[in-house]
Amino acid sequence: MVQPRVRLRNGPRLKAGMTDGVAESAGAMTSALDLLKRRIAASGPVTVAEFMRIALAEQGTGYYATRDPLGGAGDFITAPEISQMFGELLGLWCVDSWERAGAPDPFLLVELGPGRGTLMADALRAAKVRRPFLSAMRLHLVEISRPLRALQEQRLGAFHPLWHDDLTTLPDGPALIVGNEFLDALPIHQFQMTERGWRERGVDLVNDTLAWTLLPPGPQLALLQAAHKRAKPDEIAEVCPAALSIASTVGARMAEEGIAALFIDYGPADSAVGESLQAVKAHRFCDPLAEIGAADLTGHVDFAAVANAAREAGARTHGALAQATFLETLGIRTRAALLSAKASEADRSAIAQAMTRLIDPRQMGSLFKALAISHPDLQELAGFP
Ligand code: SAH
Repeated sequence: MVQPRVRLRNGPRLKAGMTDGVAESAGAMTSALDLLKRRIAASGPVTVAEFMRIALAEQGTGYYATRDPLGGAGDFITAPEISQMFGELLGLWCVDSWERAGAPDPFLLVELGPGRGTLMADALRAAKVRRPFLSAMRLHLVEISRPLRALQEQRLGAFHPLWHDDLTTLPDGPALIVGNEFLDALPIHQFQMTERGWRERGVDLVNDTLAWTLLPPGPQLALLQAAHKRAKPDEIAEVCPAALSIASTVGARMAEEGIAALFIDYGPADSAVGESLQAVKAHRFCDPLAEIGAADLTGHVDFAAVANAAREAGARTHGALAQATFLETLGIRTRAALLSAKASEADRSAIAQAMTRLIDPRQMGSLFKALAISHPDLQELAGFP
């Protein structure tokens, strides 16, 4: 069965100064691997964040730069690829938030990491209930992957999207911003508690093989948050400065220009120690050091830290709450019943199964969270009871 790309926290623990060599699997000699090895050979071990950046995002060789990772034939599947109901409900959430904010015209509709464009295509179809929303919106897509941009063009070309490499080139103005499974793809730093205090984890080359290592103490230790202070030896803490900086940018933007942003992803509602870095290839977990540039790498999103960064920038936050609560409050059961009423028996059971995957607490219902960031005056948003 096609699995969502999440697992619970666990993973290797290293003692200070130890490395555990990991063999390269056959066929893993990709150019992303070469690049990483050359980089380490030239200037020493890299942080886990730099390792993730090279493996995932390096133009020309990184995982996202070279493929469409989604779907049954790819490496993992996401909520919009599981059911059209997900994008439709998010589209209605966008329309509702826009109306609560006084229906500004024009406004930016922004998606971060739009994948195949499925979420946005479903959202814009649902948004036809409010034609003025469609005529006021200007579509902007933040996407580093050239292959995925091509798929987005096919799905969304009729809406004349503009693409961006990051948020810095988005024009000013009120914006609705959505990102599903976007923050988890951003590079994380990992720290390990040792008998002599925190050390940053890194990736080194031992006998031409990639291996985990612990880096000497340095200014990076300042990235650790208050929630990490009481860790026991061998425990791991993760920090994602890229996600925090996006939360801060989005928060400042909401405070100044309004409307709202919605992030859905997997991770805990409260900050805590624990390791979540994972590699997924062809719907199976694999060794993060074994398939450089050929496997997806993600970390859990620290929603409390993301929300905090947005509030510090002046915005109001809503949630994070369980994806099940968010989707049920938005009416996923009613939507499923409506779709089922017009469907064949086989389709009815597929609709029911898809809804279960999205909201069952043992599947995507509770590990996945929804967090909204809005203008401070927007006190209530749909889906956040
Ligand atoms: N939102 C989609 C895809 C999730 S996969 C869905 O739910 O199906 C992660 C997406 O983020 C991909 O589109 C990937 O190419 C994009 N991405 C990853 N890192 C990025 C970065 N640093 N900047 C912009 N986009 C990125």
